Amino acid sequence: MQLPPSDEALFPDLEPPTPSPSPPAFPGAGVRLDVLVALPAHSPLSMAPLPYLHDTALPPGTLVRVPLGAREVLGIVWDEAADMPGTEVAPEAIRPVRTALTDLPPLNAHWRQLIAFTGRYYQRSPGEVALSALPPQLRDLDAVQLGRRLRKLQATATAQPPDTPASVPPPLTPQQQQALQALETSGEGAGGQAPRPCLLFGSTGSGKTEVYLHAVARALAATPQAQVLVLVPEINLTPQLQARFADRFPQERIAALHSGLTPAQRLQHWLAAHTGVARIVLGTRMAVLASIPHLQLVVVDEEHDPSYKQQEGARYSARDLAIYRAHHQQARVLLGSATPSLESWYQSRPAEGDEPAGRYLRLAMPERIGAAPLPRVRLVDMAHAPRGAVFSPLLLEAIGTRAARGEQTLVLLNRRGYAPVLHCPDCGWKSECPHCSAYRVFHKADRTLRCHHCGYTERVPRACPVCGNLDIRTLGQGTERLEESLAEHLQALRRADGAPLAIARIDADTTRHAGALEAQLARVHSGDVDVLVGTQIIAKGHDFRRVTLVAALNPDGALFSSDFRAPERLFALLMQAGGRAGRDAALVRPDTPAELWVQTQFPTHPLFAALRAHDYPAFAARQLEERHDAGLPPYSHHALVRAESRSQEAAQGFLRTAAEACGELAAATGVYCYPAVPMTPQRVANQERAQMLLESPNRAALQHFLHHFSQMLHAHRDRAILRWAIDVDPLAI
Ligand code: ADP
Ligand code: ZN
Ligand code: ZN
Repeated sequence: MQLPPSDEALFPDLEPPTPSPSPPAFPGAGVRLDVLVALPAHSPLSMAPLPYLHDTALPPGTLVRVPLGAREVLGIVWDEAADMPGTEVAPEAIRPVRTALTDLPPLNAHWRQLIAFTGRYYQRSPGEVALSALPPQLRDLDAVQLGRRLRKLQATATAQPPDTPASVPPPLTPQQQQALQALETSGEGAGGQAPRPCLLFGSTGSGKTEVYLHAVARALAATPQAQVLVLVPEINLTPQLQARFADRFPQERIAALHSGLTPAQRLQHWLAAHTGVARIVLGTRMAVLASIPHLQLVVVDEEHDPSYKQQEGARYSARDLAIYRAHHQQARVLLGSATPSLESWYQSRPAEGDEPAGRYLRLAMPERIGAAPLPRVRLVDMAHAPRGAVFSPLLLEAIGTRAARGEQTLVLLNRRGYAPVLHCPDCGWKSECPHCSAYRVFHKADRTLRCHHCGYTERVPRACPVCGNLDIRTLGQGTERLEESLAEHLQALRRADGAPLAIARIDADTTRHAGALEAQLARVHSGDVDVLVGTQIIAKGHDFRRVTLVAALNPDGALFSSDFRAPERLFALLMQAGGRAGRDAALVRPDTPAELWVQTQFPTHPLFAALRAHDYPAFAARQLEERHDAGLPPYSHHALVRAESRSQEAAQGFLRTAAEACGELAAATGVYCYPAVPMTPQRVANQERAQMLLESPNRAALQHFLHHFSQMLHAHRDRAILRWAIDVDPLAI
């Protein structure tokens, strides 16, 4: 069987860029150009560029404005690639390009190849991927407006840079020096080979960011044009990191790319990266698709973070694309984490016996700098606590002791709202969402019942809507209720200055407004807050100097989840949460070290044993063994196909029909199609949702199969199917 060349793709050995043949000339009618436009992802036309005419040839990568039906849209002159034959259109039906935006340098071949690969690998049209990777404002600008933006950019670029002195880096520790040295040599592959990706495995506070800063400095010093890309998982971590980079590189322009920018800012920063005016590009997952022509280094901080996976449209993994991209642009790539993804951990395995080493180079930095030792982990057995107890009395006592000394506590609960369910003890009514197979969450602050899936919101009823009982009650705990009951339990306690304890909450509900998160974080940093309650937002990345105690209240769900990645996520979350404690050694008393408390019904679970020892390698080894025995990633590859319909039967039937149509190919390629099953929750906004898991030990075989499978989905789709999508390398099953 002939496999497509995209194998091992994220992954070396991909086909070299195809040289574009000169376009055929039509005498008197101009030159035929292939132009990529954003067509609906599921239209059969959408895979190929569309032909247009122009009076002169334009190099691939040039932006053009072209007519499409009755509209005028932005398009990109594209290569005539072998695997994307130009659409057959009668010559007289080919329409002329309206405007060529020739002031803008064309998007280079590396970028075009990245886009083509992303579309192909994630089963979306290249036009959709390409146009969604461009700043939205670019779609609305004419040549004159764009020219103005570019001139403004050039003017600021040639202006005298500020002569603020760069902050002086601390002398590197030996482990940091070794990591940098290894990164350096990773680029000296034999015979012009691309550098080996490096995985920097360093505990929280081991100085990873300092290594990034040095690696960036070296990359920028190599050539006057060199550019670097730094990816962070969360938008709210960008200001902190951006400040550190601005401090270290005051002469450099930094282009930030994330969803928090205004359209005008996003265009400006994108242009700065594309034209090379900005040599440092820093952003969230979307930044991986930016045009960065002279890319020399990609850094992916917290590479294990699920936020790197896009959850709609082309469901790409920014981490995986970073590796693909770096490989093709011969750039170095540095992934960093204290708890790497098992995929990256496996890829960086050392040689063992006959088994050769993985493709990545693993660099370890086990020691923390300037911080106390990693927090002591304390497992609080809740199996014998009174039923419904939310926190152990010991925890309240510990919070009090710390607060009296000016130390802070983080309390982590991964459920927002007041209570996950409202119910009537008389008739058994529960606050179900009428549109979803899920309960609506009780939010006390505005007395609403809110569905976290479809958003359906109502005022809380005064009495049970079924039997009229006035005594309706809450079930379970959310952060809002936790904040309230902590306030109650801690009201007798005092801080060192005699004031009552101050409790704050950070979750998606309290940070909805722009600037709210920053304001709340500032309160925590200033020491105004003694206890911070929140969801996982508070566990990530923040450099809280005065926190010495972190408590995770109810993590047990992940221990027995049907999602095989749940333990991996839990371990990472708890390690990361624990990393918030004791960041300032000077504040930690020798008699009460920084601590991570975990309340659990299962204190003897092996995950907790590894956590206690801060032993990620032991945890990873166990998980990998289980995955190996079960044939799960990274030992196999997954794709998830999802369909939505008014009826569950129709949704499942659609997936089944498409799978049956590919039955022979599945057998020939060794792809296994699991039966179609309902998703959880099964119904959202009155639409029934079903999914089918596809699995193969061979990535290329799965890719080949998906290509045909998606054609079958196109072919068998009928009006009953509202939408369908393919998620390649899904993170949640
Ligand atoms: P990580 O990214 O691994 O959590 P950071 O790079 O943020 O760690 O470093 C943690 C702290 O240690 C920071 O305050 C940083 O300024 C400091 N630090 C890092 N490297 C050094 C060094 N070589 N000497 C002194 N302090 C350092
Ligand atoms: Zn009732
Ligand atoms: Zn709902």
